[in-house]
Parts: sequence; C-alpha cells; structure tokens
Amino acid sequence: MAGLLIINALIVPMSETRQWFEGAVRVRDAVISEVYEGRCDELAPDETVIDARGCVLMPGLINAHTHLYQTLLRAVWEDLELMPWLKRIYGCARVLTPEHFYAGSLLGCAEAIRSGVTTVCEHHFLNPSAECAIETVRAMEQSGLRAVFARTVMDTGEIVPDCAKEKPEQAFRLIEDLLGRYRNRGIRFMTGPNTPPINTSPDLLRELRRFADAHSLGISAHVAESRSVVEAVERDHGQSGVVQFLQQFAIPGKNSIFAHSVHVSKDEIGILAATGTSVSHNPVSNMMLGDGVAPVVEMLRGGVNVGLGTDGAASNHSQDLFDTMKAASLLQKVHHRDAGVIKPFDVLRMATIGGARALGVDSLCGTIEAGKRADLILVNMGAVHNQPLNDVFSQIVHCAKASDVQTVIVEGEILMRDRRLTRLDEKRIIADAQVAHRDLMHRLSALAY
Ligand SMILES: [Zn+2]
Repeated sequence: MAGLLIINALIVPMSETRQWFEGAVRVRDAVISEVYEGRCDELAPDETVIDARGCVLMPGLINAHTHLYQTLLRAVWEDLELMPWLKRIYGCARVLTPEHFYAGSLLGCAEAIRSGVTTVCEHHFLNPSAECAIETVRAMEQSGLRAVFARTVMDTGEIVPDCAKEKPEQAFRLIEDLLGRYRNRGIRFMTGPNTPPINTSPDLLRELRRFADAHSLGISAHVAESRSVVEAVERDHGQSGVVQFLQQFAIPGKNSIFAHSVHVSKDEIGILAATGTSVSHNPVSNMMLGDGVAPVVEMLRGGVNVGLGTDGAASNHSQDLFDTMKAASLLQKVHHRDAGVIKPFDVLRMATIGGARALGVDSLCGTIEAGKRADLILVNMGAVHNQPLNDVFSQIVHCAKASDVQTVIVEGEILMRDRRLTRLDEKRIIADAQVAHRDLMHRLSALAY
C-alpha cells in the first residue's frame, strides 16, 4: 500500500496529555509510521501528500453504540417514552427484510464517514432471519469503516414479537456461522443480551457469558436506560438495579460495554469500575426519549471508562458524533449546575480513546501515535463558526460541525477526500435507501400497535 504524508496540520493526538501542535504525520502500510512536530519536507517515493493547512488532524471518532438499520426509521415514532417506543422498534421485526438492513446500514455508514467517524459498533438486536445480521455486516465491510458487530440475543419479553425471540442454542449457532464467515476479515465481533431483564431470561444470561468466554467475545448490552427498566428488575427479580442484577451472571467485565447506564446507583458505578466494564454514553438518544441524565461525571471520577455513541437514528435522528459531543458536554454542565464540571478534553477523550478502549480496539486506534493504525480525520477549522481559534478542544466539541470534516482515513485508506466519498457511491446509496424506506413504510402501515 502506498504511503501518505499529511503536512501543515494542527495535530490533536488525544494522548494522555492535553496538547496540540503544528506538524505532520506519515502513514506507511496502513500504520502511522511517524509523527513530526513542525515541518517535514522529506517526501518518500510513491507517497501521496495531503496539505492540511487550516485543518485539525485528529484520531477518527468512535461511535461506541448504534443501530444502523434505523437510519430508515429517522423521525418515524416521535414523542414516545422508552417502552412504547421499544414496542414499535421490536414490532418492526415482523416486516423487516435483509434488504432493509443492508440499505439502511449502508446509508448509516455513509453518514458516519461524512461525520468523521472511523469506527462503528453496531449493536444488532433484531434477528427475524439469519440474513438480517449477514446483510448488516456486509454493508459495514463494504463501507471501509472499522467495524465492531455486537450480535445480541433476545429470548423473552411481552413486547418482543415471536419472530425476534431465539433459543440460546439456535442464536449461538448463527453467531458461530457469522464468525466463520467474517472473523478473519478484520471485523471484530461481540455478543450480549439486548436489554436485560425485559427481553432476556436468567438462563440466557448465564449461557451468554459462557458462550462469550468460549469464543473470546466481548459483551454489549443496553443497561438501565430508563426508570422503567429498573422497575422491571425490582419487580421481577427483586434487585435494586440492573448492574447489580447482571453481576450474578458475570455480565459486567473487562470486555463488556453497557450502553446508556442512566439509572445506576453509586454502588453500581463501583461495580462497573471494579470489573473494568465500559459504558457508552448516548446523550442525544437519552434526551430524545426523556430517559434522564447518565451520571457521566460520577462514572469518570469513579474510574469507569466511558465512550460516546449516537444510538440508532430512530432515537437520535443522526450518526453525528459532533452533535453528541456537544450534547454530552452541555448536559452534564446543566445537570450539575456547574459550568466546569466536565472539560472539553474529557469529552473528546470519550469520543476517541474512550470508545476505542470500550470496544477493545485501543491498541489499534483512538489516538495519534506512531505504531497505531492510520484511522485519522481532518477537520477544517477555517469556517466562520470555528474562527478565530482559541481553545482547540473546546472548539472541536462546541463549535465544529460534522460538515467541517474534510478527509476521513481508515486503515490508511482515504474514505472521504474534500467531502467526497471515495469508496461508496453516495447517490446510489440514497436512492436505494429511499426504495427500501418506501417498502418498509408500506409494510409497517399494515401493523397494529
Ligand atoms: Zn441502543
């Protein structure tokens, strides 16, 4: 693979120290080979040069939790709380086809790339047929994004249609089939219970931990998203919190990521920290569904690793992590009535290395360091809303927009250059998504809720 040299950049490496500097980055065979402070004029043969004047060069953003097919369901069910909203989301399984998953996922991936995302964790929870997962993975692979695919399982629950419920052994066979097809092609897999306890039985939780360990898979789960989920665990299992409930099945752990974790107690934050469990904070989705405010400051202070996620477009309306970063910052400030309670640098760490750690890819990406894979973005800071430049971290979090992302590089491959996608055919993806959307809406109109 030919090399890349990115010169004249304002480099924001997102390593432990809060720093930025003018410099250059050299990429060789998909790896960051050198990071230079100041000028670098030595050009190697076969090297593509990108002049990044006016741009911040930073690690690509990591979306630690989303549901890509939901891009077809943007703004369909509005103004609903979690449970009635979930009833509709799960009900979709009765009409969703593999073609919907493929078209929606590709549209979501295109949006992610245009928003400066380089790694996506797809928490996949609707499996009316094996092909739904296969087609989602196929779309992710085609996009060139670094892909983490969490193929989760539901086996119970009043609001889950029968076609989306699986017996553990049947689900595990299908996951093994996915691993056989894709594991050696650069995609990282996880499994997990979808939303315990409302759609997973204690037996399934026990089996899932065993299965995950046997295949060295991480676990992804929706945890304590709303008060109603905590009430269900109190009523049906006599436990005071979801994390506490999950602990008896050893679901918390170093390779586990708990999406949301809005309603967790101080003791449960202690369990998350002690077990090395990561959290994906999804503030826009939490606000949209009226879930509440996750104790992010308390989790960070307590030593919990936190990444950021958009969640699906049915409860966020976008795959935009710039929006999510700003929401994460402002929500904690207003919640604590303390303007200094969370720093932009901490928010940016969550969106980069925090997410990478949560997904077990921090040895590959999440910071700009020699030896890491080249997952990089260039953000144009020259637009009126970004000028003049004072505090780079604050301005990336509070001023910059997804549309300021100029160039996106994953594994050394340029996926977007000067706002033009290089691998994906954007017009075709939009046209195909519109066809899939019309078909899905027609099928949904026949369903009663
Ligand atoms: Zn979710």
